[in-house]
Amino acid sequence: MIKIGVPYWYGERPLDKFAEEIAKQNIDFIEISLDYPYPEQLDINEINKIKGKYGIEISFHGLWSDVSISHPIKTIANASMRVIGDQISFAKQVNPIYFIVHQAIRLPTAMFENVQKKINENSIKTTKEIVTMGKDVNLIIENVSSVHFGNFHDLISMTNDNDVKVCLDVGHVAKYCSRAGLDFKEQFDISIDKLKDKIVVVHLHDFISPEKDHVPIGSGELNIEYILKRIKETSCKYILLEYHHNFDFNTYGRDVAKIRKILNS
Ligand SMILES: [Zn+2]
Repeated sequence: MIKIGVPYWYGERPLDKFAEEIAKQNIDFIEISLDYPYPEQLDINEINKIKGKYGIEISFHGLWSDVSISHPIKTIANASMRVIGDQISFAKQVNPIYFIVHQAIRLPTAMFENVQKKINENSIKTTKEIVTMGKDVNLIIENVSSVHFGNFHDLISMTNDNDVKVCLDVGHVAKYCSRAGLDFKEQFDISIDKLKDKIVVVHLHDFISPEKDHVPIGSGELNIEYILKRIKETSCKYILLEYHHNFDFNTYGRDVAKIRKILNS
């Protein structure tokens, strides 16, 4: 059975109160986003206690801003690897169900073919390295919505190795398609067909053209029933309702029930 979770970040502290509320909504897990001052201000004992107290599981989203493990400047790439490595060491202590990492780059010259080629070559190498580094925390690579690494071809070439598992962020596919002038359904279907056996996590949120993602399902343009029908064909074990706008605990509870109903139909 697919487990359903919600994200938690520093802005929603304290963690114990958050966990209590989501447990009331019958939610299976929390994905903790490790943005500074996390993990420094996270207490391992508290997380382990919360797991038992509320019967929930924990996963992590590694720092996604200001790190760039495939950056062509070696010192930036190496420092980024070290940051994620430290976060993995922290995460290991609470035995998480998974740990997500983005491949991302913000470099104006990435639009030029020779620079792009270099980044793509690096990404194949660093994806393998980071997956090896995170083998004890079930490290998963997520697609992003930017032009670089948003393209499913990039994702497929990066994750070609047998050990690499994928988090398919459906809203990111929609946002990337909107930016690149591509048809969402076509790209989503290709992603499912090609990555079927690699998808372990799905990040689910709705999308409003041209740029607004992370809104509750049913409040945007995506056909959630069709999307879930296709997700059922994959090896997905976890769905995260990744809302950043217009939500509260009741919205989460309502949408989790809705998803379970569709998944069971
Ligand atoms: Zn996501």
